[in-house]
Amino acid sequence: MRVMAQMGMVMNLDKCIGCHTCSVTCKQAWTNRSGVEYVWFNNVETRPGQGYPRTYEDQEKWRGGWQVGRNGRLQLRTGSRLKRLLQIFSSPVQPSINDYYEPWTYDYETLTNAPVQEHTPVARPRSLLTNKPMNIEWSANWDDNLGGAPELTQDDPVLKKISAEIKDKFEQTYMFYLPRICEHCINPSCAASCPSGAIYKREEDGIVLVDQDRCRGWRQCVTGCPYKKIYFNHRTGKAEKCTFCFPRVEVGIPTVCSETCVGRLRYIGIVLYDADKVLEAASTPDDRDLYAAQRSILLDPHDPEVIRAAEQAGISRDWIESAQRSPIYALINRFEVALPLHPEYRTMPMVWYIPPLSPVVDALTDTGHDGEDVGNIFGAIESLRIPVEYLAELFTAGDTNLVTGVLKKLGAMRSYMRDLNLGRPADESIATAIG
Ligand code: SF4
Ligand code: SF4
Repeated sequence: MRVMAQMGMVMNLDKCIGCHTCSVTCKQAWTNRSGVEYVWFNNVETRPGQGYPRTYEDQEKWRGGWQVGRNGRLQLRTGSRLKRLLQIFSSPVQPSINDYYEPWTYDYETLTNAPVQEHTPVARPRSLLTNKPMNIEWSANWDDNLGGAPELTQDDPVLKKISAEIKDKFEQTYMFYLPRICEHCINPSCAASCPSGAIYKREEDGIVLVDQDRCRGWRQCVTGCPYKKIYFNHRTGKAEKCTFCFPRVEVGIPTVCSETCVGRLRYIGIVLYDADKVLEAASTPDDRDLYAAQRSILLDPHDPEVIRAAEQAGISRDWIESAQRSPIYALINRFEVALPLHPEYRTMPMVWYIPPLSPVVDALTDTGHDGEDVGNIFGAIESLRIPVEYLAELFTAGDTNLVTGVLKKLGAMRSYMRDLNLGRPADESIATAIG
């Protein structure tokens, strides 16, 4: 066992209200600069939707991430070593500015200088790239205005994979929010695809960073990252990405997005994992087994054997205790309520999600309230408005049973807490029912 420490995050999607405070505060802190106007290290997507950059989940189109090669070994999607070498001298496969969005400001002077008139003056958008007036056709969260609309569903790469029957269901409009940062993957394909060796994973906490001095602007990392969470600064000619706010984390304060999150839905902390098993786990043949494979490499920080191995590996006592206090391992491995985003990309992502249970109103009872007791919740999981199939394509490579299991636990917990909060005797059958 070769123990390493990794910074991770779990986000509880039921609590995200889509306020974008996280995105705005992150931008103010990290990308409020020339050359990265279009960049959001943290963005919040409305689902269903195409995401940012749009259709980034279409892996055939963008060729990011890893795949299991013919000999069973993990290889970059760009294929053989020769192909990768040739690709260095050709253009990287990457989204255009139109796929991210053309950043703009407004002609505020038309407001401040407008004479008194019959109609309210309008501030027209102006491109931050060309300084010319523009029509806005797409942006980092354009889907927010289109949640569930049939025309939107045509281009959603996740929806494309699931059945027509489920697509029809989308006409019963619903939406939920998916905040995204770099996954600080345990097996990062951005680093593997960099010809200059400029991207590295910090040994002490697994944070993935770009060495700005070594970066030569090849942009193969943009191709290599399946989550499209690494960006090109067109002013400096270098790649940039989320740093997990390492200067803040190093002095014991949380990331900007976590600290400012209105929903208080982001849990961050250290986890320990077995580095010897990473590639084997990432090469698991069946996509649907990747969730279990990734969980299996995370180590129980309370296990004396793990503690001993961690100390031998030079991990500090502080870090081990931090892993023991961290909620990340518990949410992933003990309670089994957190799921990885697109485990089938095989990069071993370390930002996990508790899937959204809502809305359950009306699906459960004729009182109009959500499940009053655990029996109702268990019965209604199949008829929730957010199709379990859609969540499964996001979080479990299509395994609906896993998602249903998590939703049942969340429903049971909600019911149990309601009883406690109302001073009613708690229903002890819940513990038995969820196993
Ligand atoms: Fe690299 Fe982050 Fe992309 Fe993972 S999500 S491949 S660490 S840029
Ligand atoms: Fe969601 Fe929190 Fe971001 Fe608001 S600040 S959009 S609640 S993750």
